[in-house]
Amino acid sequence: MNEPTGAAVDAATSIFNLPDYRVISATVLADGRRQIIVETDQPPGCPSCGVVATRRKERRFQRIRDIPVAGAVEVLWSKYRWHCEERACPRLSFFESTAQVPRRARSTSRLRDHVVDAVITSGRPVSETGPSQMSMVRAG
Ligand SMILES: [Zn+2]
Repeated sequence: MNEPTGAAVDAATSIFNLPDYRVISATVLADGRRQIIVETDQPPGCPSCGVVATRRKERRFQRIRDIPVAGAVEVLWSKYRWHCEERACPRLSFFESTAQVPRRARSTSRLRDHVVDAVITSGRPVSETGPSQMSMVRAG
């Protein structure tokens, strides 16, 4: 999705810097929390046949856990179900997924990497690093 001029992505997307996503909304909620809404930046391939989808079906908002970006942020993924238009493919539709948020994941890969790094850097066994960080990973 490159512009002919090679224009850079918008500022919010650039700062948020989640691969394969662009920021479509960045809002400060009434209680002060920051909410980021993202969507994928390219149409996905069908997980069965690999044909790139061109037609969206419905969407839903999926909350995903992510690393803090200049503080805590609530991240919602505007996630689409796509039609597979390959006639020979048995799959009629599918929800998109990405390397950052694979199917059924509820947190980003960069959050999982971040937590693993934190555990390694702390030099302590996982059992001592506290349940909160590790439960975030397991729940992912
Ligand atoms: Zn297909």
